[in-house]
Parts: sequence; C-alpha cells; structure tokens
Amino acid sequence: MRDYTLEEKEAFMREALKEAEIALAHEEIPIGCVIVKDGEIIGRGHNAREELQRAVMHAEVMAIEEANQHEESWRLLDTTLFVTIEPCVMCSGAIGLARIPQVVYGATNQKFGGAGSLYDILTDERLNHRVEVETGILEAECAAIMQTFFRQGRERKKQAKLAAKAETQE
Ligand SMILES: [Zn+2]
Repeated sequence: MRDYTLEEKEAFMREALKEAEIALAHEEIPIGCVIVKDGEIIGRGHNAREELQRAVMHAEVMAIEEANQHEESWRLLDTTLFVTIEPCVMCSGAIGLARIPQVVYGATNQKFGGAGSLYDILTDERLNHRVEVETGILEAECAAIMQTFFRQGRERKKQAKLAAKAETQE
C-alpha cells in the first residue's frame, strides 16, 4: 500500500469533492468518492439516489463498482478510498467486502456514520477485515458543501411554501 503525502491526499480529496459537486447539481446530498491505486484513480462515484432512484447508490458503492470493473476483480487490494464524508453503515460494510485496506475521509457524519461516529465498522476487531482510517483531509470544504445543500433545501422549501400561499390567495 502506498503512503501518500498530505499534498497528494488533498489532491485526491479534491477529486472526490468534484464528484460531490455533481451530486449537488442534481439536488442530492453532495458526497463524492474516488478510489486510488498506485497513484491512479480507478473508480469515481457520487451519491446518485435521486438521479437514478436507487436506494443503495451511494458515492462509495458507485466508486467500488467502477473500480471492480477496472480491476476485473471484486478484491480492491492495495487501494485507498477517498470520500468527502464518513461512510455510512452500508458503505463501511461494502468497503470491507471489497477488501479496501485504507480509507481517508473529510468530515464526520454524526447522524449516520459507520466509521467512527455511530459505529466503527472499519476497525471493529470482531470483523476479519480491518481498515486503516484517516480523517480530516479538507474537512472544512467537505462539510461546507453539505451545508450548502441543506441551506438550499431549506430555501427551496420556503419558496415552495410561498408559491403555494400565493396560489391559494389567487
Ligand atoms: Zn453510504
């Protein structure tokens, strides 16, 4: 497994943030992910639940699918997964199933996090696959795009309410 410098980690996290921007453009929770092997991105993904109407199409799942195809293998040995927000319980499980040995995430997910916040699936000693985890890379940027999404959501709701009110007054 390669040890990436802080500069390299930030560069990969910026690529994950680009994926999060795609999700934001589709008005969905903006989480992005890239999987890297030997310094090369072999899988990219963004949350596409709304876009594809698929409950499990989280950023990590999409990136794992792409990396599996790239490697022609379900095992993603010697890879590092970069994701903007702490993986949820499902994605933490998927990371283990894909045998990804190293995960780097930006900001924590206090409500749904499965990699340290609510559960600690990636480092649970009862499981046979343990993952090296690093957090806090471009944390502020990764959290900021989430805040943008939720602020826009509140504004959309407000506008919809105003529009509905205007209609009833007509
Ligand atoms: Zn997930």
